[in-house]
Amino acid sequence: MTHVSKQRLLFATRNEAKVREVREILGTRFHVEDLSVCPEMPEVEETGVTFEENVLLKIREGVRHYAGWVLADDSGLEVDALDGAPGVRSARFAGEKATMADNRALLLEQMRGVSMKKRTARFRCVVALASRKERSRLFCGIVEGRIATDEKGERGFGYDSLFIPAGDERTFAEMTSDEKHALSHRGRALLELADFFANV
Ligand code: IMP
Repeated sequence: MTHVSKQRLLFATRNEAKVREVREILGTRFHVEDLSVCPEMPEVEETGVTFEENVLLKIREGVRHYAGWVLADDSGLEVDALDGAPGVRSARFAGEKATMADNRALLLEQMRGVSMKKRTARFRCVVALASRKERSRLFCGIVEGRIATDEKGERGFGYDSLFIPAGDERTFAEMTSDEKHALSHRGRALLELADFFANV
């Protein structure tokens, strides 16, 4: 039997839900380390105005602290009726110290009275990959959908209980993780990343 060695990567995030998803999506061909192997890496301040700028801030810090391949993810929800908000501020929509429950409550409040037709939105994910020897590469994934009128489902994280992907009637939080990953912005971005490794 031939032994195929796993591709090892550090995922430079302290968001445990993202770590779980990235491990599920990349599967057994990859060994995804979390920041417990680099406890000294500081929290990266997201000062960029685009997902691309923020993901590059994260990956540069990761590469400073880890000698192998590093992965970073910047993602968020863009709501058309709110001119693209919360966007890069998705994690801090209701304030710097806000919980995700606060952020979801604010989103529902701001969308009150908006008709179903005008509740269109998308999740966007930009994944960066780099090492000390390799320049940063960016992989982008988008999933279109709409904002529900109230929270539904117990699974997932962040805004999952409010996001209904196009072509479905369920929120991401009502789907199994495999169902979500087959449609999601992160699933799509990481498919491209896996393709990249298939060719190196
Ligand atoms: P950041 O990438 O650290 O700026 O955080 C992105 C924020 O966007 C997260 O804290 C979530 O609130 C939201 N987000 C990103 N991806 C997802 C997802 O797959 N489901 C639900 N919320 C998400």
